[in-house]
Amino acid sequence: MDNLRLSPLISADEIKTRVLKIGESITDKYRGKELVVVGVLKGSFMFFSDLIRSIDTDLTCDFCGVSSYTEMQSTGEVRLTLDLSRSIRDRHVILVEDIVDTGLTMNFLRRHLQIHKPKSLTTASLLLKPDALKEECSLDYVGFKIPNDFVVGYGLDYQGYFRNLPYIAQVSNIN
Ligand code: 5GP
Repeated sequence: MDNLRLSPLISADEIKTRVLKIGESITDKYRGKELVVVGVLKGSFMFFSDLIRSIDTDLTCDFCGVSSYTEMQSTGEVRLTLDLSRSIRDRHVILVEDIVDTGLTMNFLRRHLQIHKPKSLTTASLLLKPDALKEECSLDYVGFKIPNDFVVGYGLDYQGYFRNLPYIAQVSNIN
């Protein structure tokens, strides 16, 4: 990883403040209701775990997995690698993504979950790259809008590395 340069983009403190705010909004919206929070593996695990701790209503957790990326580029083909473990029929569901880039993954997952007839489906993504969108993708909660550059940290990886960074950084190749 010596040939890579990391440029900090969003600090750990900024992330913490924003995630708390999103959690408060979700709590307000679902007060007294039960929620299923669905995290998209692997990238969303850190956002997911901070977010659920900032939501103050009864909830259960589930996960799904998709693959569409090779190194730094979307293949444009989304594949489900892990499905939900329990039925979401008639449940209030929040789908939690790390980042929306082309929008293909979020739209694929939204369609996939809708087939299972949840009572409501809300979407949250920590990051959004508005300039990279290839299809319309409406999101209920967005942490930060960022430029169309590859980022790592706070769960997001490059070749499996950098997920443990507590902040978000732009990564560039210096060779
Ligand atoms: P989309 O389908 O919106 O193009 O891409 C969504 C998925 O691509 C994300 O869940 C994430 O796994 C991956 N991805 C998109 N942009 C980035 C990025 O800048 N950094 C990393 N690490 N993954 C990204």
